[in-house]
Amino acid sequence: MRFLRRLSAVVAAVVLALTGLSAAPAYAGESAAAAGPNFKAPYPCGQRWTYSHHSAEVRRALDFVRADGGTTAGTPVLASAAGTATRHYQAGGAGNYIVIDHGGGWKTYYFHLAAYSVASGEYVAQGRQIGTTGSTGNSSGAHIHYEQLYNGVGQNIVINGSGLSYPGSYHQAYLTSDNGCGGTGTPFNTWGSGVNVRADARLSAPVVTTLAGPTAVRVLCQKQGDTVNAEGYTNNWWSKLRDQNGFISNIYIDHPDAVLPGVPLC
Ligand SMILES: [Zn+2]
Repeated sequence: MRFLRRLSAVVAAVVLALTGLSAAPAYAGESAAAAGPNFKAPYPCGQRWTYSHHSAEVRRALDFVRADGGTTAGTPVLASAAGTATRHYQAGGAGNYIVIDHGGGWKTYYFHLAAYSVASGEYVAQGRQIGTTGSTGNSSGAHIHYEQLYNGVGQNIVINGSGLSYPGSYHQAYLTSDNGCGGTGTPFNTWGSGVNVRADARLSAPVVTTLAGPTAVRVLCQKQGDTVNAEGYTNNWWSKLRDQNGFISNIYIDHPDAVLPGVPLC
């Protein structure tokens, strides 16, 4: 099992290297927006909101208001992916706003907040409340002004891997959130002892809990992060554990493959 795990890690690395070569961007001068995090809607699980983009809008922003009978003002604003949140204020413009730096050149913006819910510089998991929806700054009513930027350039917004449309008014397009919904995950066992579960797939991310010994876990999704060298293996894939609400290196999942079969990407 352990030899197989190492071998498959090497094979996976070679396959990824080959894939990367064939997928190299062909357009000179175009910002090569590498695949970003798996962004989710910036509001709670199950809520249905409508969105629009108006002509005076900055960059590629979309404005969101609730369309499920709930009240927009005061609804929690959620991190659409994990990262480091900072607080900002711009009178006559963005009002109270949060920027989340997701790493790899990706950031998201959340404008017009009634209140902040996190300290500036705080690391937040996907789905964590970062503020409440409001109408501060230049805003005619409560809404979430949301943006995704790559290397400082606004991108067309992608949620769960699908690009959103840019209608000129509300009630033409809708998005139901699955942010923070959880899910059931795929069962695996871990091995090893004293395995740290971290808030993200990075060795510098805070430890949220530690698995004392082999543990039955549910893996929600997996993604690439920091390369881990442990127990004689090298792997940069990490699994998100449902019940522990954090990530462990796939080295500690008792399965011979470096990339777990049947587990979606985070
Ligand atoms: Zn806006």
